[in-house]
Amino acid sequence: MYISTRSNYNKVTAAEAIKLGMVPTGGLFVPENIPVLSAEKIKNFKDKSYNDIAQEIFSLYLHDYTQSEIKECVSKAYNTTNFDDVSFTPLVKLNDHTYIMELWHGPTAAFKDMALQILPHFLSLAIKKTGVENEVVILVATSGDTGKAALEGFKDVPGIRIITFYPYKGVSKIQELQMNTTEGENTYVVGVHGNFDDCQTTVKEIFSNEEFKQMLLENGIELSSANSINWGRLLPQIIYYFASYSELLKKGDIKEGEKVNFVVPTGNFGNILAGWYAHKMGLPVNKFICASNENKVLTDFFQTGKYDKRREFKKTNSPSMDILVSSNLERFLYEITDHDGDKINNWMNDLNNQGYFEVDEDTKRKIQQIMYGNFTNEEQTKNVIKETFENYKYTLDTHTAVALKVYDNYIKETKDKSKTIIDSTASPFKFNEAVLEALTNKTRINQSEYESLDQLSKISGLNLHFGLKDLDKKPILHKKVCKKEEIPSIIKDILNIK
Ligand SMILES: *Cc1c(COP(=O)(O)O)cnc(C)c1O
Repeated sequence: MYISTRSNYNKVTAAEAIKLGMVPTGGLFVPENIPVLSAEKIKNFKDKSYNDIAQEIFSLYLHDYTQSEIKECVSKAYNTTNFDDVSFTPLVKLNDHTYIMELWHGPTAAFKDMALQILPHFLSLAIKKTGVENEVVILVATSGDTGKAALEGFKDVPGIRIITFYPYKGVSKIQELQMNTTEGENTYVVGVHGNFDDCQTTVKEIFSNEEFKQMLLENGIELSSANSINWGRLLPQIIYYFASYSELLKKGDIKEGEKVNFVVPTGNFGNILAGWYAHKMGLPVNKFICASNENKVLTDFFQTGKYDKRREFKKTNSPSMDILVSSNLERFLYEITDHDGDKINNWMNDLNNQGYFEVDEDTKRKIQQIMYGNFTNEEQTKNVIKETFENYKYTLDTHTAVALKVYDNYIKETKDKSKTIIDSTASPFKFNEAVLEALTNKTRINQSEYESLDQLSKISGLNLHFGLKDLDKKPILHKKVCKKEEIPSIIKDILNIK
């Protein structure tokens, strides 16, 4: 069963948690208990396929789904039509102790596909299982990547409509094109004047606005969320932590039970949290290295125990990490305090009311045992892209570059020799402008996005990612832009509610 991080809701089944997205009274759903796998079982994963590992792990968390339902979801999501690599998350060895796990071989060229290719199937079943008769509307606030990945996943899924809000002018040109060219009768995309936090905060407010939801219900509509706060988003991300570990074991690069580090370029804290759940399930991990860009709220938090969002929001070249409120941190805090809902409530209220909260010494110490936080600036990120290409002929995207640089800081500081897996969260093509600038030391003027993709392909020796081909030839189907205050009325407009 699933419970609320704020101890303010009844227990629900997995299907209900996935359908609801977040706890209606505020808070996030987490599993009541985290299942633990034996060392033997984890060792045996090395002889299993990605889909078999997924099947085993999903079964432990989705008690109200049958084995064959899970199997169908898995095979609809992870196949070579949706992904351009048979292993789905290939592991590239950079040097003796560093491996890059490429999480961007799905349709939208960013790691969010790993979860959003399967969530719509989980949700579709959840709607049936919970007996929903209303139409389900997915509201998404996106910093760029979630939006397209969700739109692709939900496109033309019957009984579901999806409305995506993104920060207007706050995402890359490619990201904007990807979203605004989305086909499907049930997809809507709206630009919002403001940053990602404005989008996310407003969407979250709508989810906890009883009056608004009642009004929707009277019109036969129920809301759900595909944001990384949905448990159905987090769960699929646990798989590749096991899969990558198993791959190292299979290659003989690590011994059974050997601890590894994971470096995760972090925004909303979903990806890294999934890794932490894998660890709680028994995966041998030494440290999770939480990498931030100049929006380094998490770095400060892990170093001081004080989470303070009262600071300037910076636009960076790793926009998917431009986040000041990392929603999934709430889940981590709930777990690390052994399910102390009152504490979480107080901290989240503090964050809301005064813009910061501070954890106690005991909590801080527990966090620091497993998490290390650090950050990079824009200059360092560019340098690391250039150096990595010169040293290894490997082309990093900007987010992965942040991770690699932070790992560098970590090694200098700790001298830790553990084998380390870097989560690579986007294809370099997706953030081609910044990547090219780093590789060539030139800002491009008067060069179209498509000339840039071409140029990057030539320099890097990589084929253009299949999800980014021919975007410029597609018609722009979504043109709506609004102020954040107008989000509720735009939703009513779209849903044809007077
Ligand atoms: C979403 C995203 C991130 C951040 O992941 P979280 O789970 O929100 O921490 C990092 N890099 C890229 C490319 C992303 O799309």
